[in-house]
Amino acid sequence: MVLKTSYLANHVQNLKPSGIRKFFDATAGMTDVISLGVGEPDFVTPWNVREAAILSLEDGHTSYTANAGLLELREAIAKYVDDYYCVSYDPAHEITVTVGASEAIDIALRAILDPGDEVLVVEPCFVSYAPLVTLAGGTPVIVAAEKENDFKVQARQLEDAVTERTKAIMICSPNNPTGSMLSKEEMEQVAGVAEKHDLLILSDEIYAELVYDDLYTSFAAIDGMRERTILVSGFSKDMAMTGWRLGFVCAPAEITQGMLKIHQYAIMCASTMAQYAALEGLRNGRSDMAEMRKSYRLRRNFVVESLNEMGLSCYKPEGAFYTFPNIESTGMDSESFAKRLLHEERVVVVPGNAFGDSGEGYVRCSYATSMHQLREAMKRIRHFVDNL
Ligand code: PMP
Repeated sequence: MVLKTSYLANHVQNLKPSGIRKFFDATAGMTDVISLGVGEPDFVTPWNVREAAILSLEDGHTSYTANAGLLELREAIAKYVDDYYCVSYDPAHEITVTVGASEAIDIALRAILDPGDEVLVVEPCFVSYAPLVTLAGGTPVIVAAEKENDFKVQARQLEDAVTERTKAIMICSPNNPTGSMLSKEEMEQVAGVAEKHDLLILSDEIYAELVYDDLYTSFAAIDGMRERTILVSGFSKDMAMTGWRLGFVCAPAEITQGMLKIHQYAIMCASTMAQYAALEGLRNGRSDMAEMRKSYRLRRNFVVESLNEMGLSCYKPEGAFYTFPNIESTGMDSESFAKRLLHEERVVVVPGNAFGDSGEGYVRCSYATSMHQLREAMKRIRHFVDNL
């Protein structure tokens, strides 16, 4: 029997598919493609981390863990967050191990939003933020970081967007897709807006380890902010563990208890094997971090220089592994640029508008790929631009 109506909820029907996915599907069946499109490291998870997962299986650790995650892992996360982010959290009551940073963002929003509550979402940003606010029953209010400020949101822009319904500011620094990172002073100004209007900061700090020039500051470490920050991070980027699906979220006990209620019903617990792997990574496996950072730094410098040389103006991003060159000089919009580049030169970049309207005029080029591939990609992009 043919169904006449859709069973999908209206708000799901109205969700747009991710602009990144749509673009990758276009490469199916193409050969000799160089992808600067992916948002994941080209490194394989360190061997000792992989081995720990294998050993956990050999030892028969195949059942559920506590809802919040293995206590030992939460203790190791607390130590790591204390050392690197300079904030202390109680592993028993303030840390939840999640299925990637993705789940952490989802349960954080679902735990804090009542229908109609507003969240200031700083764009350009990772594709999931606004849809997850909507799915949690809230209303995303887009605050477009300005290109004149290298896409660093200004406190006055947030101030202008606050209403009586505003509950939180959602921010990611270092940022995907722009690579921009707020300075400590800029973070303090944003914190000032949160304090003045009694807002939470939902801080996605998944790129915290991938910072190349300055020291890293966490939002939760800014004076007075620990109690109003939900700190999201994970293992995907710095430990090259995207496929393991493991992240964590640190927040004051009341918010953690709220998130845990959702997590326990929806997820139960993150993968046990992945938790044992991450535990090893936190205890012993971060020794190659400096090497990884150095390698990304070299690649960043090469890509930024090359893009600027060919007339695609590009500021030097402070973190993550993305560059965000301006392509307006080509006269094309970001989608046409990316489509033609793919078909004429077989290089994948992601149109800036996939990350919000304010990303129009830009494309995201990831440099999480080998120097050899990057050289060839830059050669092809130069050929493309020269022949326009
Ligand atoms: N936040 C940002 C800013 C990201 O770039 C990504 C992944 N690309 C995520 C969250 C999701 O990470 P995870 O794999 O931990 O779910």
